[in-house]
Amino acid sequence: MAFPMSRRRFAGTVGAALGVALLPSPFGASRASGAPARGDLTDRILLDANENPYGPSPASLEALAKAGRMAGRYPGALEEELKAKIAAHHGVSEDHVVLGCGSSDILRMAGTAWLAPGRSLVAAEPTFEAVLSYAGVTHSETIRVPLTSDHRHDLDRMAAACNERTGLVYVCNPNNPTGTIVSGDALEAFLRKVPSSATVLIDEAYHHFVENPGYRTAMAMIEKHPNVVIARTFSKIYGMAGLRVGYGVASPPTAATLRGHASWDNVNLAGLSIAIASLKDADLVTKNRRLLNDTRRWLCDALDRDGRRYIPSETNFLMIHVGSDVAPVIRAFKDQRIQIGRRFPSLSDWLRVSIGTREETAAFMTALQKIVPRRAAA
Ligand code: PLP
Repeated sequence: MAFPMSRRRFAGTVGAALGVALLPSPFGASRASGAPARGDLTDRILLDANENPYGPSPASLEALAKAGRMAGRYPGALEEELKAKIAAHHGVSEDHVVLGCGSSDILRMAGTAWLAPGRSLVAAEPTFEAVLSYAGVTHSETIRVPLTSDHRHDLDRMAAACNERTGLVYVCNPNNPTGTIVSGDALEAFLRKVPSSATVLIDEAYHHFVENPGYRTAMAMIEKHPNVVIARTFSKIYGMAGLRVGYGVASPPTAATLRGHASWDNVNLAGLSIAIASLKDADLVTKNRRLLNDTRRWLCDALDRDGRRYIPSETNFLMIHVGSDVAPVIRAFKDQRIQIGRRFPSLSDWLRVSIGTREETAAFMTALQKIVPRRAAA
């Protein structure tokens, strides 16, 4: 791909854009806008994993300090407390709730519970891959159904791909990496078509970001459809990706099957403490949704002004068209200390960027204009 200026001159340009925003981070390293680092990646902007740059609320961090003093004990009672809080939050009884070490743990449990040699997984292509890798471990067949031309789940084709061998159907709503949704009505119609012998795993990791009025969580659908499991996470809107807390909600018999595949004490004391505190913090969700959705809209406006294509998103990430294979683009961003999402083979000329702070997102936009000239992205 063609670079319009030398790497060194470009580094200076982006450095200047970033320099305006460099503030001390809570961990002492100098980082754009003070968003904390991941591991030792203290010198770069992290827009690759759909994390929440604002992290947990100050009230939750106090709970974390308290948990530190109890670290010699197993989490026991706190597990029960979080389960009760989640159940109350969703208006269900506690036997509907299964805790996980992140929602990926719920996806893993679903894979081992309902997939096996001779059974199949039906999923969209592209979608979040965790469940597909768990299908590989269980030696089951994977049926990938391409998204529609407007990058949505093709629910008709997914329903048609289901049969008596189908163990699990995965619907990521909103979908990672496209940020598109399945409407509530479409989801209900789909659930009526899928054989009741197949479990439908609905991943609502990005639920809180959705503003489209056609969207509905599947929570109200589980009583009518006991073959449905909903996965939720504290990693995204609650800013707790490093603490690894997620959960599944399903009708009690389905939840019991899922729970049978959990390891003991699979959620740690620190994660439980912050999750409990986060659910008490009524403003946290509203504040983070506003901050991140406003920044996504800011980025979309900047892309519109530049005449660039992107997939309208209901999440804290955005797919942007780059006009050629995205692999060298990802490398060029990395050279400029900006980490971008990986390449998705079936959308190979699209770049997935997570929404960061406004300063981080502005630095990304400045870099994009240099790395991918507008005419190349058309
Ligand atoms: N589901 C989706 C759609 C995701 O994008 C992710 C992570 O990015 C996860 C689940 C896993 O989240 P966690 O295990 O942190 O809860």
